[in-house]
Amino acid sequence: MYRTNTCGELNIQSAGKEVTLCGWVQKSRNLGGMTFVDLRDRYGITQLVFNMEVNSELCGQARKLGREFVIQAKGKVRERSNKNTKIPTGEIEIDVNELNIISRSELPPFTIEDETDGGDELRMKYRYLDLRRNCIKNNMILRHKVAREVRQYMDSIGFIEVETPVLIKSTPEGARDFVVPSRMQPGTFYALPQSPQTLKQLLMVAGYDRYYQIVKCFRDEDLRADRQPEFTQIDCEMSFVERNDVLDTFEGLAKYLFRKIKGIEINEPFLRMSYQEAIERYGSDKPDLRFDMRINVLTEAVKGHGFSVFDSAEYIGGICVPGCSEYSRKQLDELTEFVKRPQVGAKGLLYLKYSPDGSIKSSVDKFYTADDLKKWTALSGMKPGDLLLILAGDRSKTLTALSELRLEMGNRLNLRSKERFVPLWVIDFPLFEWDEEISRFYAMHHPFTSPKPEDIELMKKDPGKVRANAYDLVINGTEIGGGSIRNHDASVQKLMFKVLGFTEKEAEEQFGFLLNAFKYGAPPHGGIAFGFDRWVAMFGGQDSIRDFIAFPKNNSGRDVMLDTPSEISEKQLEELKIVIKREKEG
Ligand code: ASP
Repeated sequence: MYRTNTCGELNIQSAGKEVTLCGWVQKSRNLGGMTFVDLRDRYGITQLVFNMEVNSELCGQARKLGREFVIQAKGKVRERSNKNTKIPTGEIEIDVNELNIISRSELPPFTIEDETDGGDELRMKYRYLDLRRNCIKNNMILRHKVAREVRQYMDSIGFIEVETPVLIKSTPEGARDFVVPSRMQPGTFYALPQSPQTLKQLLMVAGYDRYYQIVKCFRDEDLRADRQPEFTQIDCEMSFVERNDVLDTFEGLAKYLFRKIKGIEINEPFLRMSYQEAIERYGSDKPDLRFDMRINVLTEAVKGHGFSVFDSAEYIGGICVPGCSEYSRKQLDELTEFVKRPQVGAKGLLYLKYSPDGSIKSSVDKFYTADDLKKWTALSGMKPGDLLLILAGDRSKTLTALSELRLEMGNRLNLRSKERFVPLWVIDFPLFEWDEEISRFYAMHHPFTSPKPEDIELMKKDPGKVRANAYDLVINGTEIGGGSIRNHDASVQKLMFKVLGFTEKEAEEQFGFLLNAFKYGAPPHGGIAFGFDRWVAMFGGQDSIRDFIAFPKNNSGRDVMLDTPSEISEKQLEELKIVIKREKEG
C-alpha cells in the first residue's frame, strides 16, 4: 500500500498511529539535530520529523531531499511541541522511521508557493507545477464545486444534460469560427461550435423541453485581456416558456449558487432594467450597481452660452461623485488623462466643485453665471462636498466614456468590493445593430433571437428600432450570461435572415437544417448561456478567468505548455489536400 492517509487528514486524534504518507517535498529545514520536512499533497501539508540522534542515517537521507521530490514516509503520529494553528494538521507531526524516494525532481523553475516568483508565461509553460500551488488548486476545487452544484440544481428542476457534437457547422455568435479540415471529404471543413445554439434549439424541436450542458465553446476572436479562445458555458434551453419563465428559472440557479458557494442568501428578486435605461443611466449595458453615481443628462441645460465644446456637442452628461469637491488640480489632471485614453475615448474633462461651504467652482466659470451653475448642481442631485465630472461629444461615445469614468471613480472610492454582489437582468436589447463599415444590420445577440411580439411589424419598416426578447444576467458590471426567446415560427426567422442581408438561398444553405426542423412542430422556446469560467472567477474573487482554467492559453491564444498552435506534417497536409501559402520573405 502506497499510503494509509493523505497529507491533510491527520490530527491530534490520530496521535500514536503508525501511518504511511506520500507526497511532494514542499520544503525542508534543518534545526540543530532535527530535520523537518513539509510533505504536501492535494489535501494539505503534514510535517515529517527526522532526528539525527535517533537515526543519523535516515536523517542524513532526509537532508538530501530536494524540493518537489516525491517521497513515501512511514512513521508514528505524535503531538507537536511547536503547534501551527493555521493548518488542520498543525498539531501533529510524523516521527519518521522509513523514507523512500519515489521520484526525484529537478529544481522547479519557480517556487511552488502562494506568493510565487514565476511570471505568467513561465507558470503557464509549467502549468502542472503551477497547479500544485495552493491558490490555483483551490480555484480548481471551486470550479469543480460550482459545476457539481449547477448539475445538482438543474437536475432538481428537471433539466437533463445532453451532449452536443464538437465537429459541427458554423454557429453565428459574432466571432470567427475555428475550423477543422475533413480528410474524408478533402476541401471541406467542420466548424467548432461558438456555442451549441442551433443544436439546443433542435433538442427543443425534439421535445427535450429542459436541456442544459456544461460545454466547451470556441471563438476565434482577437483576444482581449480576459478572453480565452476556448471557454466553458452552462448552456440551457427550455420549451413552452416566455421571457419571465426563463428569468425566474435562472434567477433560481443564481440564488442557489450564491447560497451554496458563497453562503449568501439573496431573497429579493433581481432588478430588471431595460437596455435603454442601462445605457442612459450608466452608459453601459452591464452596469455595476454596487454603487450609484448615475449619469445625468446636462445637454439642454448647458448649451447656448457660447462655450463651443458644449455648443457643438450632441450630448453632454455628468456624474456626481460624492464627497470629492476638494479634488486637487493633480487629481483632476489624472482623471483628464484617464478619459483621454483611447479605450475611454473622451477629448477632455470638465468639472464643477460644489464645496462644503456651498460655493461653486468650475472649469467653465467664464461662460456661466453662478445661477446657471447652481442649476447644474440641482440637475445632477449634488450636495455640498460633491464633485461633478462632465463629458461632452457624440452621444454614444460620451456615454461609453462616462461609464468608464464612473467605474474608475468607483474604484478610487473603494465602492467595488469583491465581497458584495449586485445582480440584475438587463432586458429588451435592440434586435439589430447597424454596422457602419459594411452598411448593414447584424444581430446584436444572434440571428435566432426573436423580436418582442409588439415590435414584429417594425422589422420591415424600421429594423433599428425593433427590441429583442433578449436578456443578460449582469453581476457587478460583468455579463455573466445572456439569452433570448427564439423564433420558433419559420416565417419570422426568415424575415430575420432577410434583414440581416441573407438571400433566401444563403439562409437555406447555412441554416436549412433549422428551418427544416421548424416544419415539423417547433415549440415556443428560449434559453440562456452562462460564462462558466467567469462565474467561477467571480465567486473566487478575481477578475481574470485564466487561473480558474486548468490549462489556459496565453493572450495570443497559444498554449505555451503544449507549444501549440503548431505546424503539422507534410503527410497530414497531403492527406487533407491542403497547401500552405507561405508569406514570401522580405
Ligand atoms: N448561444 C448564446 C451565447 O452563446 C446564448 C443563448 O442565446 O442561449 O451567447
